Amino acid sequence: MEKKVRWEFKHLTASYAKQFFERKLTPGMDSGDWSMRDAETGYIYVCPRPNAKFDIRPNWSVIKAEHICVCDPDGNLVDDNGFLPTVELPMHLAIYKARPEIHAIVHSHPLYSSAFAATGEDIPVLLAEQALFLGGDVKCAEYGLVGSQTLADNIVAALGKDHRAALLRNHGAVILGKDLEEAFVLADFLEHGAYVAILSKIVGKPIEISMDNILDPSLVL
Ligand SMILES: [Zn+2]
Repeated sequence: MEKKVRWEFKHLTASYAKQFFERKLTPGMDSGDWSMRDAETGYIYVCPRPNAKFDIRPNWSVIKAEHICVCDPDGNLVDDNGFLPTVELPMHLAIYKARPEIHAIVHSHPLYSSAFAATGEDIPVLLAEQALFLGGDVKCAEYGLVGSQTLADNIVAALGKDHRAALLRNHGAVILGKDLEEAFVLADFLEHGAYVAILSKIVGKPIEISMDNILDPSLVL
């Protein structure tokens, strides 16, 4: 069966553009991006790279369905729309290869998570919701140049097998979802967790909790 590029997925991907800015996942301009994977074809729908004729500023609402790039799992464009994908495409490809259960990635540059990324510190597990939804602590990856394969490999290592978020040192954050809606909700969870972690240091001494000390084992979920 012939693999098809689906316009509804281009629309779906583009529909998150404005809220990427409004949810404070980026300070603006072209910092950050997101993508989704079609489970049927394996095609990846991803944000475009700005160029001389196409400027992403400041609120991202310029991104429409026709700007969304589509590529195969190896990064070959399958739909020439005149745009190149985000420079962080290698990172998106590496994460999708390593985590087959994941079908959406948000790469954010948010305020409080960036404070941890800037210091190379992991965000410890301080809240039950962080353990339940993000898979535990949020590790800060080793440094890699923007757009490099090293950055891609380092973030895959920091995410491990089951973490839903990790930090790019001196750069930003990465959040994984089963779909774009979940990835954006988890991106908010990450930023909330980072904010609480910082506030808790002002209030007192943060108390870390272990992953086996979260849910009452008698609960039926
Ligand atoms: Zn970035």
